[in-house]
Order: sequence, then C-alpha cells, then structure tokens
Amino acid sequence: MRLHAGDSGAALGLNVVMLGPPGAGKGTQAERLAERRGLPRISTGDILREAVQQGTSLGAVAQQTMDAGRLVSDDVMIGIVQERLDQDDARKGFVLDGFPRTVEQAAALDRMVNGRGPLVVLDVVVPEDVLVRRLATRRICGSCGATAAVDWKQSCEKCAGQLVTRVDDSDEIVRERLKVYQRQSKPLVDYYAARGTLRSIDGNRAADVVTAAVNQAIDEATGSGLPPKGGSREREA
Ligand code: AMP
Repeated sequence: MRLHAGDSGAALGLNVVMLGPPGAGKGTQAERLAERRGLPRISTGDILREAVQQGTSLGAVAQQTMDAGRLVSDDVMIGIVQERLDQDDARKGFVLDGFPRTVEQAAALDRMVNGRGPLVVLDVVVPEDVLVRRLATRRICGSCGATAAVDWKQSCEKCAGQLVTRVDDSDEIVRERLKVYQRQSKPLVDYYAARGTLRSIDGNRAADVVTAAVNQAIDEATGSGLPPKGGSREREA
C-alpha cells in the first residue's frame, strides 16, 4: 500500500483516519487502536457532544444540526480539528474518528498532516440493515458519553452513569444520517482510494475479530513488522 506522505514515517507519527457509516463500530475500534498505539483518539462527535453538554457557544451552534442528523459546517469542524491536532499529544500521531466527513474536510486534513507522517485510512464496512439494527439498540452513558457494550445492562461500566439512547439514534434520524453518509461521506472512499491510502475492513464481525483486522491492516500499511494478532487479511481498496 502506498502511503500519502512522501517519507517513510519512521520518525514521524502514525496518523489514522477511521471511515465508515454511523453504527459501523468506528468508535470502539478507534478507542482500542488508540490505546494499543498510545495515541490520542479524537472523536469529533464526542467533542461536539461535550460542547453541547457544557453549553458552550460551539454547543449552541452544533446541537440542532446534530439532532437533525445533518453535518456541522466544514469551517467549524476544520477549525476544531486543527486546534486539536496542534496540541502536544497529537504530535506523535492520532486516531481520528468521525473526521473527515466531506471531501473538503479531507483536503483540509491533508494540509494539516503535511510533513507529520503517513496517513492511514481505514474504511469500516457494514451492510445497511445491520447498521439500522445496531443503532436502534445502541445505548450510551448519559453522564460520560461512553458507548455501552452489550453486557452493561443498566449502568455505565466506566462511571456508573445511567444508560440512555442517543437522540440522533432514533429511527427517523438514523435514516437521515445514513442518507447524509451516502451523499457526503461516501465520496471520501473514492478520494482516498484514488491515492492508494485506503484499506477496507469488514466490520460485520465480532468486535475482537475486527480489532485484529484493524491492527493487521495498520501493521501492513506501515510495514512496522509487529506480529498480527489473528484475523484475516483485509482487502486493499
Ligand atoms: P458521531 O458521533 O461521529 O456519529 O457524530 C455525531 C454528529 O456530530 C454527526 O451526526 C454530525 O451532526 C456531527 N459531526 C461529527 N463529526 C462531524 C464532522 N466531521 N463533520 C460534520 N459534522 C460532524
């Protein structure tokens, strides 16, 4: 796989982008990957939800758009990510979850990572009927926002907060979000595929199997030589 940056990335960071529709499991996989590689996971959805919860001006701008299942403007999102990537902990690399979501955001990200090491793009693919089913049953913690694993039952494993349904996981809004994904975010797959920086991961499997595939894809993409921890070889897009 040809990486985007014009260098080997040996002394540079590992910059990962997770693509995929809502419900594909990007959040879980991004969290596991970030932990394993000692990188910050940057979820733009989490940043926006936090802003809403704290009642900041960003939260005020974002809430209605998020509740309707539409995308917050490129200008706002690019500003948020630029600021986050400028922080020290992101210098060694990052796992981006939920950004970019438009080709314009992807072009801005290219400018931000220029000279900071290769960009590895993972596209987590799950059939639409499975996504709809997953989102209908998804619960998050109403206090800290963590996504609940199937066996959490009543309360959050991390902070014991009450589990709730995300406003934007309601039937009607899910359909809108999937439409928005097809229209605005799917073109990203072509954007990255044309450059050869993309790997497709079958996300319709048990989370641990997907995690193994993600790690293998990263190892292969970066030529790091870390032994893969199981899972099947993924398709190079
Ligand atoms: P997520 O948690 O990633 O599903 O994001 C929840 C919502 O936040 C989305 O439906 C959008 O309204 C908004 N959002 C998150 N990331 C972005 C982005 N990169 N561009 C535009 N809107 C975003």
